[in-house]
Amino acid sequence: MDRQQEFVLRTVEERDVRFVRLWFTDVLGSLKSVAVAPAELEAAFTEGIGFDGSTIEGLARVVESDMLVRPDPSTFAVLPWRGGPDGRQGTARMFCDVLTPDGLPAPQDPRHVLKRTLAKAAEAGFSFYTHPEIEFYLFEKDLDAQGIPVPVDQAGYFDHVPAGVAHDFRREAITMLEALGISVEYSHHENGPGQNEIDLRYADALSTADNIMTFRTVVKEVAFAQGHQASFMPRPLAGLPGSGMHTHLSLFSGEANAFHADGAEYQLSTTGRSFIAGLLRHAREITAVTNQWVNSYKRLWGGSEAPSYVCWGHNNRSALVRVPMYKPSKGQSTRVEYRALDPATNPYLAFAVLLAAGLKGVEEGWELPAGAEDDVWELTDSERRSLGIEPLPGSLSEAISVMEGSELVADTLGEGVFDFFLRNKRAEWDDYRREITPFERRRYLPLL
Ligand code: GLU
Ligand code: MG
Ligand code: MG
Repeated sequence: MDRQQEFVLRTVEERDVRFVRLWFTDVLGSLKSVAVAPAELEAAFTEGIGFDGSTIEGLARVVESDMLVRPDPSTFAVLPWRGGPDGRQGTARMFCDVLTPDGLPAPQDPRHVLKRTLAKAAEAGFSFYTHPEIEFYLFEKDLDAQGIPVPVDQAGYFDHVPAGVAHDFRREAITMLEALGISVEYSHHENGPGQNEIDLRYADALSTADNIMTFRTVVKEVAFAQGHQASFMPRPLAGLPGSGMHTHLSLFSGEANAFHADGAEYQLSTTGRSFIAGLLRHAREITAVTNQWVNSYKRLWGGSEAPSYVCWGHNNRSALVRVPMYKPSKGQSTRVEYRALDPATNPYLAFAVLLAAGLKGVEEGWELPAGAEDDVWELTDSERRSLGIEPLPGSLSEAISVMEGSELVADTLGEGVFDFFLRNKRAEWDDYRREITPFERRRYLPLL
């Protein structure tokens, strides 16, 4: 056992932890958890804990179902919402790597997919940092008579609501996140009623992906404890803004921000420009991963500042990629914001395909096309065409078709995940296609 593992064992004993939850993520981005008694931890570190992978989305086929999880001791934290009144007899968690029975990384483990892509970046001399702005809705516990969720307030963007539910909620959620070692940079009420945003501090992409998984759990737990319900559904309510997860990305070479060049336009280096060029060139192919649900496309095509077209701009909120204002107070803070992501994505896979797309641009030295200066939603189709601005896929079905032909996505996800993902998403689309929606009854029954 190494020192980190020993530290975990000692802490478990000193803090009288009763259960340790071992967390991992399936291919669709759901958190999985198995609790072990402290006495099992040593074996979990050295041999791993066995489970039936075939019952977990995308992890294994029935014929090769035995798998192992091995906890990553650097992710150990005591869960602040679980335990006795004096803080004893608590529950801790660690993220795990999924292994095959011979102890090798399971190729279908999303955490491994990201690690493999990060290793590729490291070979090229880069580490990858991300900072997500996570939006979500807070609803009353019960649906209304029509089965529609009811927002907890009627406030809007940056509103300060005296004695509001949202303040209490954000305060509690942020306190818990910080107790778990996750730093929060900003939080505020978003545009929609009951809609909030919490932004996590910059961190390496693997930690950020782990943090997003923890974040989703914390937000749900706190909402539940306060008698509400939180949702990361990309577009829960027609006519109201969807929830995005705009994510700021940057590459570092050692201590230096590789996207930063003093005096260059927007302080953006050649590496930064080629990275954006890669993102744009592959944007349509990676959208099934960054926006994986039927409902994701209701957000992308629903206005309210969600991007619908493949282009970049400086401070242009209609663009898919934005180079935000440079803040001298933040040192080398040059970064690019990718705005398509939604908070219901699998963050490991999403970061992997974004990094792969950007790196490809850097490797090939691609030139960045001209930025979009106009509000691209206001242009006509032919104006957009003449500017070379393509639409993002309009539906999950279209996104799957584009992804099917993508060598970049196949290579990044690996064959097992790529095939499973496409199969699963086609089935989701087929289920959706079989539905008869309220829209159709409203529109067609009186007419036809
Ligand atoms: N809710 C918007 C989206 O879905 C983003 C609003 C904002 O700019 O923060 O992308
Ligand atoms: Mg926002
Ligand atoms: Mg943003």
